[in-house]
Amino acid sequence: MTLQGTYDSLLQKNKKAIIYQMIQAQLGWDFETYMPKKGGQQRSMQFATLAADIHKLMTDPKIGELINNIKTDPDYSSLSDIQKRNLYLVEKEYNRQTKLPADLVEEIAKHQVIAIETWKEAKAAKNYAMFKPELKKSLDLQKKRAHYLDPDKHPYDVLLDIYEPNMTSAMITRLFNELKEGLVPLIKKIQSAPNQPDTSFLSRSCPISIQETLATDLSNVVHYDLDCGRIDTTEHPFTTGYYQDVRITTHYYENEFDNALFSTMHEAGHAIYEQNLDEAFRYQPLGQAASLGLHESQSRFFENIIGRSPEFWEYYLPRFKELTGDIFADIDAQFFIHAINHVKPSKIRVTADEVTYSLHVIIRFEIERDLSEGKITVEELPTIWNQKYKDYLGVDIEDDSEGVMQDTHWAAGLFGYFPTYALGNIYNAMQLHVIRKELPNYDDLVRTGNLKPILEWLTKKVHQPANLYDPADLMQQITNEPINTKYFIEYCTNKYSKLYAF
Ligand code: ZN
Repeated sequence: MTLQGTYDSLLQKNKKAIIYQMIQAQLGWDFETYMPKKGGQQRSMQFATLAADIHKLMTDPKIGELINNIKTDPDYSSLSDIQKRNLYLVEKEYNRQTKLPADLVEEIAKHQVIAIETWKEAKAAKNYAMFKPELKKSLDLQKKRAHYLDPDKHPYDVLLDIYEPNMTSAMITRLFNELKEGLVPLIKKIQSAPNQPDTSFLSRSCPISIQETLATDLSNVVHYDLDCGRIDTTEHPFTTGYYQDVRITTHYYENEFDNALFSTMHEAGHAIYEQNLDEAFRYQPLGQAASLGLHESQSRFFENIIGRSPEFWEYYLPRFKELTGDIFADIDAQFFIHAINHVKPSKIRVTADEVTYSLHVIIRFEIERDLSEGKITVEELPTIWNQKYKDYLGVDIEDDSEGVMQDTHWAAGLFGYFPTYALGNIYNAMQLHVIRKELPNYDDLVRTGNLKPILEWLTKKVHQPANLYDPADLMQQITNEPINTKYFIEYCTNKYSKLYAF
């Protein structure tokens, strides 16, 4: 077979796995949204069968053979950079899938179900001791997994690489230390500022039907294409899909209209990324987001940088009032903007504001890193967790359900995932810095709701390159700088010193 023929058959095999994964994702969406109450048993058969087939497709020894044939072909260097990147991505995934012994994969899958169930019970009972043995096992299994994947690397780096390719624990430690240094004093200043917002109007009753209209309207404003997407409701909002079928979900609370409003902007940001990947890469390994951190940079760009900016609400508040009737008729722009940017250190990550959010993530990262290095033990976790919340956020944790057991990630074996949430903030502030230089009328564009040029910039620089580069390389290319926290700290300082008048 010619080199080109070998390459084509490798990509053809991979395409099949990608399509199966799309089917898997769609079934997952249906499971969370519209599946009948008693459909669970059949669905779990569908999931198990698909997962087994996908695993078989992805670990087919023929893939290893094809990769090897391409790499040892005397004409290898004639492949284009795009072809080489595709090959690199297929090989990386193939290695990841084939290096783990089958019994470990099975043990991890089985333990995940038990650990999540136990976590739910322990959380409800506010009893960490109940969760502790399962958490310890989750951690040990992930350490084992890291060892099989790459025995020579720092185990945490191996896990991190799954979500944020080629990011290291050392790099994150440096970035997060900088963030802490910048954010902790800023939060103190915000808290002691005399000009605190009145947020009471946020809990006014706002009918769900109005909130649905708002969600659709905002999706149109930010150019989330609803002809290639849709909005449904689930307990926890998420985005799923690819290119021309990217769906989001939200959750409407009658007395917290801001919840669905910002979660819609957030998920629309994720969806926009997927909808605008380069069409040429569809069904190729390249046709996916560069990393979870980059993904989060886009969701938070629309939720916070645009969605919570004073400029955007100059444009959107009149429209918001038109759609909500007389519910918020008495609320003026300044009042509204300050309330949606209320900074308040809290115990819970998912509802944290833009400034304190990163500290929640930093706490989890430091714990994960120290656990993976054996510097701390699972026994000590509640004490360490509570101390860090006191030190970084000035918050007292009274019970472990609101503390160390609040998130499902560790029960699910997701170690190395959390840092991507805060990396999103770091990345998008860096992107904003460049956008402001390249679109000098950026503020006016937001102020007039003309978001198209901003979307086009993001599409060209962030979405279209898809998975051509690892995140650090992509960010270097976009910004001409290594990843740094300067712009996020600057962004927060500028925005909040104005809002809180200090
Ligand atoms: Zn997100």
